[in-house]
Amino acid sequence: MKPPPFDYHAPRTLGEALDVLAGTGEHGKVLAGGQSLIPLMNMRLAAPAHLVDVNRLGGLAAVETGPDGVRVGALARHAQVERSAGAAAVQPLLRQALRLVAHPVIRNRGTAVGSLVHADPAAELPAVLALLGGSVRLARRGGTRDVAAGEFFTGPLESALRPGELAVSAFFPALPARSGTAFREVSRRHGDYALAGVAALVRLDGDLRVAEARAACVSAGPVPVVVDVTAACGAAPAGAADWEAAARAVRERIEPEDDIHATAHYRRHLTGVLAAQALREAARAAAENAGENAAGRAGEQAAGRAAADAAGREGAHG
Ligand SMILES: Cc1cc2nc3c(=O)[nH]c(=O)nc-3n(C[C@H](O)[C@H](O)[C@H](O)COP(=O)(O)OP(=O)(O)OC[C@H]3O[C@@H](n4cnc5c(N)ncnc54)[C@H](O)[C@@H]3O)c2cc1C
Repeated sequence: MKPPPFDYHAPRTLGEALDVLAGTGEHGKVLAGGQSLIPLMNMRLAAPAHLVDVNRLGGLAAVETGPDGVRVGALARHAQVERSAGAAAVQPLLRQALRLVAHPVIRNRGTAVGSLVHADPAAELPAVLALLGGSVRLARRGGTRDVAAGEFFTGPLESALRPGELAVSAFFPALPARSGTAFREVSRRHGDYALAGVAALVRLDGDLRVAEARAACVSAGPVPVVVDVTAACGAAPAGAADWEAAARAVRERIEPEDDIHATAHYRRHLTGVLAAQALREAARAAAENAGENAAGRAGEQAAGRAAADAAGREGAHG
């Protein structure tokens, strides 16, 4: 099928894009990777009168990493973020989740920010942003605003983006110390949207007990559902935490629906199974990271002592 007619705009600067979007208002739609919008238009489920193609705004393609987190520009493709070693080091959940998004061909074209704005409750990245407490930066003619993940997803395929706005980047906070993450999902065929999926983050305290455990569920409600299971799994050592109790807490909180792919009952059951698996894996990763940090610190101290000894020897010789 072919899409309904539309006017095509190809701005070359951010300012030009914001002017066009201001002019087209609710009749304009941003075209990024086109991996969701074009199928919707071809199926006549979307019929914007104006398409504003932002693919020429090269300045929006950056993936910037720093100690606080990863800022992903609006034109960074899924594959680019997935392959970024810096992003994976600062926040490993990004790569863990992106590997599960569709197929490589779609990941080469689709954008991470486009996935967030598209706000499909079955998509991986909205759950990641919600779990981590990230945010989306929205620009309009005359200003920008940052919207926290908790307020950004407002319903199935609905976000806080207003007519005239362009999402210029998204921010994913860094993995805290002594923490680990994991993403588990089940789909009928490889690359399909998940029937159920869970992103998990576990943080340990200095005694390697669970200090914080959270799970974000996909296909479990109209928006990503984040469940804090810290109390449910008890402040136990990572290896002995009650992840089954955590899974029960997740099952109680979610609101999956029946559709042609699965019943709500099955989705609820599956989400609990995946939550226990993802939380256990995240806890293992947290324990490993805590061990590496401790080993790293011990190594630094040993190196420091060796350097001091060497300096002392030099001093003695001198
Ligand atoms: C066969 C198939 C399987 C897929 N499987 C999965 C999957 O398993 N998991 C998953 O998460 N996704 C999946 N996708 C969707 C894919 O990840 C898309 O790339 C993504 O959802 C949207 O990114 P995009 O850049 O293609 O956005 P587009 O299709 O260009 O746009 C999507 C929507 O977001 C808006 N938008 C995009 N960018 C901006 C912006 N910067 N500012 C304002 N509005 C913007 C558009 O106006 C439109 O409403 C699949 C797609 C296909 C075709």
